[in-house]
Amino acid sequence: MSSQNNVRVRFAPSPTGGLHLGGVRTALFNYLFAKQHQGEFILRIEDTDQTRFVPGAEAYINECLSWCGIIPDESPEKPGAFGPYRQSERKPSYRQYAEQLVEKGYAYYAFDTAEELEEQRKLFPNFRYSQENRLSLRNSLSLSAAETQQLLAAGTAHTIRIKVPENEVVSFEDMIRGKVSFETSLVDDKVLLKADGMPTYHLAVVVDDKAMQISHIFRGEEWLPSAPVHLLLWEYLGWKSDMPQWAHLPLILKPEGNGKLSKRDGDRLGFPVYAMNWIDPKSGDLTKGFRELGFLPEAFVNMLALLGWNDGTAQEIFTLEELVEKFTVDRVSKSGAKFDFEKAKWFNHEWIKNADNEVLMPQINQIIGNNGVQNVDATFVSNVLTAVKERLTYVSDFWTQASFFFVSPDVYDVDAVKPKWTAQKTAFFEDIIQGLATQDWNAGALELFFKDKVAASGMKVGELMMPFRVMLVGGKFGPDVFRIAELLGKEAVIARIQKALPLFI
Ligand code: GLU
Repeated sequence: MSSQNNVRVRFAPSPTGGLHLGGVRTALFNYLFAKQHQGEFILRIEDTDQTRFVPGAEAYINECLSWCGIIPDESPEKPGAFGPYRQSERKPSYRQYAEQLVEKGYAYYAFDTAEELEEQRKLFPNFRYSQENRLSLRNSLSLSAAETQQLLAAGTAHTIRIKVPENEVVSFEDMIRGKVSFETSLVDDKVLLKADGMPTYHLAVVVDDKAMQISHIFRGEEWLPSAPVHLLLWEYLGWKSDMPQWAHLPLILKPEGNGKLSKRDGDRLGFPVYAMNWIDPKSGDLTKGFRELGFLPEAFVNMLALLGWNDGTAQEIFTLEELVEKFTVDRVSKSGAKFDFEKAKWFNHEWIKNADNEVLMPQINQIIGNNGVQNVDATFVSNVLTAVKERLTYVSDFWTQASFFFVSPDVYDVDAVKPKWTAQKTAFFEDIIQGLATQDWNAGALELFFKDKVAASGMKVGELMMPFRVMLVGGKFGPDVFRIAELLGKEAVIARIQKALPLFI
């Protein structure tokens, strides 16, 4: 455990494109743990792989975290005392650590060219640069000291690789998995410093976590195979007592349960895998995101928290504050969590249903405006929203569910009504038009009035209520028909009956 007492965690994405929902869950779990311990949540941008750097990706990450309400205490945008927060800006310091490791015999210079390594890969399809073959390759272990010096003096391109020890077992206590051990004979000699002077992830992650006094790390299970290299580096750099505690989060699996959920699965099955829309700056290709599909950030975060964690009760709806309070590492599961898009939609539906109208109103007003309706009374919109809210899976469903409140229908589900139409029904609605003119205008009174009239006619309520609905709505859907009538107002209701009636006869 690190010597400092305060909790400092980091989310360390590489700015290579849009953010996969698994990445956001990693950020979330780090955040929950930090906030629960009154600690700091840090955003570090791991941008040392210049070949994978994508412009716009860092801004996307910032926007995504702020959309989710997972706000970093320290980040490139908001530097604290432990900067720089972009790995590339720490470049000058990495070589010194790599050289230090070479001096101590824990690492070595490797002069193999890309072509030579390619040649090895052709010869040995499972080629790994390791203790098994390092002496037959071109490096400071196989060459004489003089040859090595000569090559270095001549400025020969080289990498620095870790010299993984033979026949040792390295282990650590994972906060989720318990003791995890690795045999070093199975670990390859990873590159620590690349020929361009940039560190690889392995060196940078250890140097940065130390420099930033990180105390705990939640990261994806896919990083577990890298752990032995990191363990060795913490030890070889003499920092073992400062090593953070690790928790490797379970994978998020395909809905079928076989393998990690990928962007391609989303394309294949028709749901987003990224948090927000991402437009690839090179190809211009759009990858759809949860935000633009109409997910509320609260629902997205809630859904992510339950991918691999639960509080041990049947509760499923949690606010971010509740998650901070209730999150416990010992309830994070070791096994992968299957992604279920139907369940994700259910979370959104629940959050919309329970959201305050004020929260949804900006989006609702935009939807109404986009559909060409101007100057609507705010109270009316809010009342309509209340009436249809529980029917929405996405906020964007509002127009499908509620357009008839704003625009009189032009198309009617005539087929639902016409085949069973009778002259008696025509008479009923003509009579209703008269009666409505003097009617008290609220849903309760309208319902009584309507049912009395039906009773007097000798017909059945259902036979008349459905046509009434189709007259007001255009189709057989929507909230309580008397509530619809109340909201539409007397004039509109009468006008709609008059407009639709001839079409049903
Ligand atoms: N840069 C790594 C990533 O892109 C971070 C892994 C870690 O958290 O150590 O996921």
